[in-house]
Amino acid sequence: MARSDETGGKVTPMMAQYHALKAEAGDALLFYRMGDFFELFFDDAKAAAACLDIALTKRGADGGEPVPMCGVPVHSAEVYLARLIRGGFAVAIAEQIESPAEARRARGSKALVERAIVRLVTAGTLTEEALLAPAAANWLAAVARAGEEWAVAAADISTGRFEITRCGFGELKSELARIDPAETICDGTVPGIAARPGKGGFDSAGGERALKARFAVATLDGFGELSRAELAAAGGLLAYLDATQKDSGVFLAAPRRVARDAHVGIDQATRDSLEICRSARGEVKGSLWHEVDRCVTAAGRRMLASDLSAPLTERRAIERRLALVQHFHDQQPLRARVREALKAMPDIGRALGRLVAGRGGPRDLAQLRDGLMAAAALRDQWNGGGPLPDLLKEMMPALGGHAALTDRLALALVDSPPIEAAKGGYIATGFDPALDALREASSDGRRAIAALEARYREATGVAALKIRHNAVLGYHIEVPARHADRLMAPDSGFAHRQTLAGVVRFNSPDLHEEAGRVVEAGAHALAAEAAHLQRLTALAVERREAIAETADAVARIDVAAANAERAAVDGWCLPALEDQPCLEISAGRHPVVERALRETGERFVANDVALGPADRLWLITGPNMGGKSTFLRQAALIVLLAQAGCYVPAAAARIGIVDRLFSRVGASDNLARGRSTFMVEMVETAAILAQATSRSLVILDEIGRGTSTYDGLAIAWAVVEAMHDTVRARTLFATHYHELTRLAGRLDGLSLHHVRAREWKGDLVLLHEVAKGAADRSYGIAVARLAGLPAAVVSRAKEVLAKLEKGREATGGIAAGLDDLPLFAAAIPSEPASNPVADALAEIEPDRLSPREALEAIYRLKQLASERGG
Ligand code: ATP
Repeated sequence: MARSDETGGKVTPMMAQYHALKAEAGDALLFYRMGDFFELFFDDAKAAAACLDIALTKRGADGGEPVPMCGVPVHSAEVYLARLIRGGFAVAIAEQIESPAEARRARGSKALVERAIVRLVTAGTLTEEALLAPAAANWLAAVARAGEEWAVAAADISTGRFEITRCGFGELKSELARIDPAETICDGTVPGIAARPGKGGFDSAGGERALKARFAVATLDGFGELSRAELAAAGGLLAYLDATQKDSGVFLAAPRRVARDAHVGIDQATRDSLEICRSARGEVKGSLWHEVDRCVTAAGRRMLASDLSAPLTERRAIERRLALVQHFHDQQPLRARVREALKAMPDIGRALGRLVAGRGGPRDLAQLRDGLMAAAALRDQWNGGGPLPDLLKEMMPALGGHAALTDRLALALVDSPPIEAAKGGYIATGFDPALDALREASSDGRRAIAALEARYREATGVAALKIRHNAVLGYHIEVPARHADRLMAPDSGFAHRQTLAGVVRFNSPDLHEEAGRVVEAGAHALAAEAAHLQRLTALAVERREAIAETADAVARIDVAAANAERAAVDGWCLPALEDQPCLEISAGRHPVVERALRETGERFVANDVALGPADRLWLITGPNMGGKSTFLRQAALIVLLAQAGCYVPAAAARIGIVDRLFSRVGASDNLARGRSTFMVEMVETAAILAQATSRSLVILDEIGRGTSTYDGLAIAWAVVEAMHDTVRARTLFATHYHELTRLAGRLDGLSLHHVRAREWKGDLVLLHEVAKGAADRSYGIAVARLAGLPAAVVSRAKEVLAKLEKGREATGGIAAGLDDLPLFAAAIPSEPASNPVADALAEIEPDRLSPREALEAIYRLKQLASERGG
């Protein structure tokens, strides 16, 4: 096994074994088990030491060079694993798969202990409580393609969810954004998507075989018609789970096919801009999810995040959820009782995931026991009668049905068992007479040992004599050193074992015998408990699908009751959904901004929106800080909440179902992605124009600001026209370009609105009220003054503005007044000459002209053209 390196040095057998395992681990860090430690070597050690902030040491030599190494104790390995996974690493765990004694017996005294990689820990394949965020799902996504079609297969093995979606390449990113995977894998690379290479299996034939084998079915018909891309993605996913989990089980429910159009299409830029599940700072706090969440269970929180990430498009499905919220909204006492009952509910989905993965312990079984019993008891809350909403009626059976399992667990387990099985003590007395007898024997033995201690004290006259236990000596007799002589005599019956600084330790034949009995009985008791644990786990695992359904039903109830609570406390309303493309919100509020204002004692001003086919584009002007962005976003958030099946922060809302939702903020800071902000803005605007439909909702906030005034205005102008004429989506467009308001005369589906402000005693007062018509002016300088710009700069700006406005009045050109302001003349381009011919042409409506009027128009145009030429 010895390996030579270039320097000719010999590699120890252990290092040879290490290198072989490391080759298998690939780019994952290798945790190499040595006794009570996982050790890391070479570059792995350097990377891990840096990430974990632990000492990097050196060990012996690998062919001459000292080997960098670091290690983490096995008993606290999870903490370090969690940090490494968060740091973006994957970790291969190489365990000792035989004991040193077994190795010696099999292969001689110097034999190396056999080791093997038992698991590859990656961000998307976690089940341990310590490694997972309680309130976030943990998806692994596999991306594959077949021809033009792409598919994503995603699994959260911590709760057994498994779903498959197909889409075009253009939608792939928003599908991934919806799922928000902890880890994405693919076959090779996918342009524009951060994914690790998988472990093979990305082919449709192999995927079909793997799915059939996994779910022990002869045909996949039961899973819906899976396309080649979907089969390939599922194949890659299953292969990766096999490769990372090795021989442990993985909890996967039957795959659920998710139709792309079952959810509102929301791309990453829109998710970021609306701060759905994370704020702009990347935190949960400040996000819509955080603001809406009143759930009392972690599973409810996870479900709410998934609801908000993937609002529905099917009216009936949305209304079913809303009816459940309404049920709780209208019945305060019921709501309070249910929420109280849910508070004590353990996370049964995650406990089950660990049990199926073979990483469960007694605590997980107890959580199933308590959780499933609580779920069954929850049904009693509705004993009073009264009609149930459909969704609840359908979920009712799933709340129960586990009595056989819970009865068994209740008999078998102690009230609050330990997390780990190692020390025993989790099987209840009375469950197994044989186990009770072993425990009895072991405690008899301990009593006998206590009696022995008393007898020895009397016999030796050493009152400080004690019988103790430790891992090395087992049971032994200990006396202070100054009394040791009394036990040393050859005929005393005590055998000397160890002398330490202050104490001397002995053994005796009687103690040896009693201790043997205790240890043996204890070992047998432990083994008996472990066998029970295994059988009970198997019982639970057998019912995994039904238990997962219960977990989902409980989470759905939590989500609905929580939303009802939020709605009742803060005056949210039940939205009405329609298939027509309308959007009517009265007294709508932005939940996050409203809460932030409340904290500083300020009042949020509610506003209305009314969009429909005839009035589909609102152009909104008004001062900076006036509340335009807030108004735009609150409309999008209200739609999103409604379609997620939630009450909304408004007095009333009528919402025509939206198929796609787009939100863009002009020149948003996106340097991190390596493109100029203006470029990003234009790419995103292009995406909207290409993807939005007449059933979409689009909010555009100051598009066209990242470039020169004319270019920006021209682009904004053209975008508004395209949105209005071609895309015809419901659109809210906020802008500082007052010039755009001229479009109102020309586009009949466009109307003008503004956020109100007024100047009072020289100060600007922002009213945050949206009113009809265009703003009279932009108040930019007034806002700058409010912000504390130096008085000299403010007054100079006023001077420049006055000139600019005078110029505009005179010529219609923005910069025409600047000629006598030499400083600026060079910096600001002058207005391109207007084109009277084009203007006149634009005014002509051919369908309304008589032949004679048409002829006159041609003469007029020729005249204008010749004037212009001369
Ligand atoms: P700018 O043009 O500078 O981007 P804006 O018009 O988009 O500004 P917002 O960013 O929406 O303005 O709002 C600015 C601030 O005004 C918010 O942070 C909030 O404090 C307050 N505000 C916005 N809307 C309201 C409202 N409806 N009621 C009360 N305060 C509001």
